[in-house]
Amino acid sequence: MSLNNKVVIVTGASSGIGAATCVHFAQNGAHVVAVGRNLEKLQETGRACTKANLKAKFLLIQADVTKDTQKIVDKTIEEFGKIDVLVNNAGILASGTILDSDIQQFDSIMDTNLRAVFKLTKLVIPHLIKSKGNIVNVSSVAGIRSFVNALSYCVSKAALDQFTKCVALEMAPYNVRVNSVNPGVVVTEVHKRAGMDDEAYAKYLEHSKSTHALGRVGNVNEVAPAIAFLASDAASFITGALLAIDGGKSAMCPR
Ligand code: NDP
Repeated sequence: MSLNNKVVIVTGASSGIGAATCVHFAQNGAHVVAVGRNLEKLQETGRACTKANLKAKFLLIQADVTKDTQKIVDKTIEEFGKIDVLVNNAGILASGTILDSDIQQFDSIMDTNLRAVFKLTKLVIPHLIKSKGNIVNVSSVAGIRSFVNALSYCVSKAALDQFTKCVALEMAPYNVRVNSVNPGVVVTEVHKRAGMDDEAYAKYLEHSKSTHALGRVGNVNEVAPAIAFLASDAASFITGALLAIDGGKSAMCPR
């Protein structure tokens, strides 16, 4: 995989899939721009990147993707002068059905999981056209399948999948590729941040053994290499693809 000296922006780099993705890119010789709101946790990601590859350059940008998109692009260009890859990974989850989720929840999820992606992508695209770079969006199995009690989240990820495919078609003439990964349940902070306590989370992980064909949930180091693959020249003929990394979850169907 050739990612040597590529400049890669990863949003949501302070935790979970984003943090692991930064380390994986650093290991493969890329210069990582790590974006998130939690400064201490971003610094942890920075230390892990440096440990993974002493030569890789690392830029930490404390930013809220719903507000600070211009800052993310400006600081990256100021530091590196180019952008090769954008990984739109920052995302939030909340539970709720049409009966009990309110419009504030819907707006907040759409704001982070979709609107921010539109805004940042729009600003980064001119740089990707110059570099013939690419985008990897971090969607979810919830984009391609429908689940009860995660309405706003499922809608946001389904919309993100359509965004991935439409932008892939629009950018193909410029040799800019756009793909997504669609993970199943992966152990990170996202479920607890959405309100699950330790007990509920443990139960959910146990239950998830039966909802993933491989009989287990995933870990972040099973997602990060797939993101790096899609971002690399090894995936040079792949665009508009939604890559399920879900232990077979999206292939399952009640029977
Ligand atoms: P985590 O909660 O562990 O990490 C989420 C990251 O998103 C954090 O780094 C957080 O950073 C960042 N983030 C959230 N809101 C903002 C914001 N407004 N501005 C900047 N950064 C923000 O969850 P995951 O690693 O699991 O989630 C990463 C992606 O993976 C999400 O898009 C999620 O939907 C997707 N996904 C996760 C699955 C799972 O089971 N874990 C399954 C399928 C998809 P900070 O708090 O510092 O701002």
